[in-house]
Amino acid sequence: MQTQIIAHRGFWKTNPATAENSIQALENAQNLNIYGSEFDVRMSKDGVLIVYHDEYYGTLEISKNIFKVLENLELKNGENIPTLKNYLEKGKENPSLKLMIELKPINSKFKENDLVQKAIQLVKELQVESQTEFISFSLNICKQLKKEEPDLKVHYLNGDLSPLEIKEKGLDGIDYHYSAFMKNPTWISEAKTLGLTTNAWTVNEIEIFKLLRKQGIDFVTTDIPDLLLNE
Ligand code: MG
Repeated sequence: MQTQIIAHRGFWKTNPATAENSIQALENAQNLNIYGSEFDVRMSKDGVLIVYHDEYYGTLEISKNIFKVLENLELKNGENIPTLKNYLEKGKENPSLKLMIELKPINSKFKENDLVQKAIQLVKELQVESQTEFISFSLNICKQLKKEEPDLKVHYLNGDLSPLEIKEKGLDGIDYHYSAFMKNPTWISEAKTLGLTTNAWTVNEIEIFKLLRKQGIDFVTTDIPDLLLNE
């Protein structure tokens, strides 16, 4: 299989640039012929899932505020912070683009499990199970996703587990910073042998892309999907 491309937080690095994790960035990714578009998901205090990377918006902590407070916050491009529901509805318009949902870790297993349940519920409600894949730095979140819904594709981000360890935990792939693959040059082929997928982030240099591709990586996640498409 040829190395495929995933837009990191949507395709926002346009000219002029739009906001990361915005609906516009997702729409831009839909207009490229790529595998998928990645985005970050957090939960408000009252359990609404929103698409936003940082735990803080200015001095406002996402997880400590109710959605009513968060819903009018503006992204750099003037959009309001999207909910996961908004995002999946938009994503559904182009079924050929995979939606790579990153669930951000929380410092409570209980809350992480709640986040997992709510995310699965929305994916089912919108019937986008086969169009979505999940990623997380939290091993608990990854394991919980598979426990709740074994058919979902789940990939681990944190870079500290070998392909064999990931296989033993029942996950589908490794999605690591590219330096992890440089430090462990056997991991791509080991993962392949085990039937796991490999993805590297955030690959923003063409030379690194070419090197990983030569080593047979399945996916790269990048801020420059338009440029890597032409390589
Ligand atoms: Mg992310």
